[in-house]
Amino acid sequence: MGGMQHSTELFEEAQKYLPGGVDSPVRAYKAVGGTPPFIVAGQGSRMFDADGNEYIDYIGSWGPLIAGHAHPQVVKALKTAAERGTSFGAPTELETTLAKMVCKAMPSIEMVRFVNSGTEATMSALRLARAYTGRNKIIKFAGGYHGHSDGLLVKGGSGLATLGIPDSPGVPPGYAKETLVARYNDINSVERLFERYPDDIAAVIIEPVAANMGVVLPTPGFLPGLRRLTREYGTLLVFDEVITGFRIGYGGAQGLYGITPDLTCLGKIIGGGLPVGAYGGRREMMGMMAPLGPVYQAGTLSGNPLAMTAGIETLKLLSQPGVYNQLEQRTEALEKGIKAAAESAKSTVQVNRIASLLTIFFTDRRVTDWDSSATSDRSQYAAFFHKMLGAGIYWPPAQFEAVFVSLAHTPEDIQQTVEAVDRAFRSL
Ligand SMILES: *Cc1c(COP(=O)(O)O)cnc(C)c1O
Repeated sequence: MGGMQHSTELFEEAQKYLPGGVDSPVRAYKAVGGTPPFIVAGQGSRMFDADGNEYIDYIGSWGPLIAGHAHPQVVKALKTAAERGTSFGAPTELETTLAKMVCKAMPSIEMVRFVNSGTEATMSALRLARAYTGRNKIIKFAGGYHGHSDGLLVKGGSGLATLGIPDSPGVPPGYAKETLVARYNDINSVERLFERYPDDIAAVIIEPVAANMGVVLPTPGFLPGLRRLTREYGTLLVFDEVITGFRIGYGGAQGLYGITPDLTCLGKIIGGGLPVGAYGGRREMMGMMAPLGPVYQAGTLSGNPLAMTAGIETLKLLSQPGVYNQLEQRTEALEKGIKAAAESAKSTVQVNRIASLLTIFFTDRRVTDWDSSATSDRSQYAAFFHKMLGAGIYWPPAQFEAVFVSLAHTPEDIQQTVEAVDRAFRSL
């Protein structure tokens, strides 16, 4: 691409050929307004746009870039891998290497299948859960996101624990009604669904720490309660750790909270910035997948050598001592700075954080589920977002998303960010 085109022109041109000018809706800034900067490069904690601006980046490609942009070790390995060929459609040792790393990090996973996205991972894990149990219904939680497959693009009706209704045109109501919707952090809402459909529920799928309604932590007892209920009713517990896997600790949420799920879905970090997803669990269950068993699932580019390479290098970086401590300290400093800024500006925001995930909610209510998250003032968030962007801080362009801190963020980055937050709060 030659010449100096600016984001506005690039966005106009993109909109002629791509719906909304993007390939994933949040990038179009509908939630905050304005024109998204077109990115030309990333390095460490920084992104650079087509207008010559530099940003401290807190989305990190929405999670995968926990080592920062263009980490030299990842890039070097990718160059070598690319020179050997980018795809074979035949097995490589790289897949076994990454699979071993995943199984070692999460002992609930004895076998794993790599796919190309988190969407594919959850969709396929639920197919397996249905095949394994011989049941059709699943439970998800309001505000939980598990990718865009039909059965998961479903929201709750009014009321506490309900049959799902399509959350998008094009989702057949027949699919949606196999999805039951419960309330996050409300074990009673789950129990009620089990009482109503005791023999019909194949799986409960959950983000063990919710990060797609903003960051919402599980209250004590909630995850153990789910484990108990699912065992009682012969239902599989599926942890969607596409965000939390290797993010809130090397062993994911299951390691941190000491809960063993039946199936786990992964993505994002395990691809180190290349397209990837994975699902896994006990050998006896994964043995039902083709070619070992009758449950069909395949992928032309699954286990792609470049994606495997970026994943392996990223997990190697995360296996080094002290890395999760560093992430904790940086993000804790950010959290403290934000809270101090809010206090001095008399702003009533809520800050939810775990490890290197954080959300500022523009509400005075404690955020514990989708209903409380949804009380956030989205226009205030939009104003805050644009002040941050103007100050060279790339915050997530939607209220219900997480901030991702990486190993590349320095104490100076955090300090500069806190100062920008302080100025933004004061001017709102
Ligand atoms: C991002 C995400 C997905 C979907 O992954 P894609 O790679 O975007 O398809 C699924 N579950 C969770 C929890 C996610 O955050």
